[in-house]
Amino acid sequence: MPTYVYKCAKCEHTFEVQAKMSDPPPTEGCPECGCTVLDKVIQAVGSILKGSGWFKKGGY
Ligand SMILES: [Zn+2]
Repeated sequence: MPTYVYKCAKCEHTFEVQAKMSDPPPTEGCPECGCTVLDKVIQAVGSILKGSGWFKKGGY
C-alpha cells in the first residue's frame, strides 16, 4: 500500500497516510489542528526529502 504525504494548509504540519491509489484525502483532516484543507505532497525518493525535517518521524 503506497504512502502519501499531506501538508496541512493551516499549520503546515505534514503527515503520512497509507491509502489506496483511488482513495480521497483523509477526511479527518490534519492530526494537529483538524483543518481539512490539505495539500498533497508529491512523494519522491531522495533529494527532495533530504533536510525537510518531517521524515525523521516517518520511519525513513
Ligand atoms: Zn494543521
